[in-house]
Amino acid sequence: MSNPKFRRLALIGIGLIGSSIAHVVRREGLAEEIVISTRSAHTLRRAEELGLGDRYCLDAAEAVEDADLVILCVPVGACEAVTRWIAPALSPGAIVSDVGSTKASVVRQMAPHLPDNVHFIPGHPIAGTEESGPDAGFADLFRNRWCILTPVEGTSPDALERLAAFWTDCGSMVDTMDAEHHDLVLAIVSHLPHIIAYNIVGTADDLAAVTKSEVIKYSASGFRDFTRLAASDPTMWRDVCLHNKDAILEMLSRFSEDLAALQRSIRWGDGDALFDLFTRTRGIRRSIIAAGQETATPNFGRDKPGESERR
Ligand code: NAP
Repeated sequence: MSNPKFRRLALIGIGLIGSSIAHVVRREGLAEEIVISTRSAHTLRRAEELGLGDRYCLDAAEAVEDADLVILCVPVGACEAVTRWIAPALSPGAIVSDVGSTKASVVRQMAPHLPDNVHFIPGHPIAGTEESGPDAGFADLFRNRWCILTPVEGTSPDALERLAAFWTDCGSMVDTMDAEHHDLVLAIVSHLPHIIAYNIVGTADDLAAVTKSEVIKYSASGFRDFTRLAASDPTMWRDVCLHNKDAILEMLSRFSEDLAALQRSIRWGDGDALFDLFTRTRGIRRSIIAAGQETATPNFGRDKPGESERR
């Protein structure tokens, strides 16, 4: 292995994100050794069968011993318990990070329990799929995706640079911002869309006059696109909602106001207002494609040749 950036990487949690980190670290030679720990013997065994690490332990404290990089890859609601567990075993000088989808809560849960002699730098790779577990990971998950680091006051610039370089080597583009701002931004770009998807799929499921078989049969008219988000991990998203409550409630109330305005335009037949909104939103999608965060291929590039869309 040529010049690995870290001697020992400990991954606590080995689901979609943890296993994707393991794959890319292995492929790019970013650490000499990968130690994996997870809550259940079942998942740990699967990680071993998949060859994701070099050592495997159920004891998270044992896993972090002598590690110079520790990344928590567990649901955000589990961060405090895991931090309390590993804190006494952390090596002086280690970088301790996470991948949680909310950041202010993670800082509140982790910072008070960490020793002063480690570098705590929270992180969030903005990359994922609706799959979970150690089989779901792949080395290219982070390629061309942003990773946001939310350093706390007094963070060592050297440690921050090392962690940023790690994520760059994983294929990501790195940004830094404070945890509260991260939570506000993510509430609109990620948390709200998931909540809307969970809600619309739940509503369709509850309808009595339209049968479930019709919902599934005609899903390609739009509904299907929401079901991908609504199939995301229930534990992860329960924790996101509970741990980014204020920002999500703020975005939900703005959303409700805008929805009421849209409802009024439909009720009063205000075609101009509808046309203006739909034109503006189409432009947003084009900007996302131009920024390389989505494919320009129609229908997300998933049509087989000859298959056409019903609308
Ligand atoms: P995942 O595939 O469901 O894996 C979760 C891992 O955490 C498993 O190793 C699981 O252990 C462990 N775990 C679950 N509950 C735990 C608890 N109460 N205490 C200790 N360990 C626990 O999850 P993931 O998708 O990789 O998500 C991990 C983190 O990444 C979350 O904080 C999430 O917010 C963040 N994230 C997710 C995505 C995404 O799209 N999925 C994207 C960016 C960031 P066992 O299997 O052994 O029980």
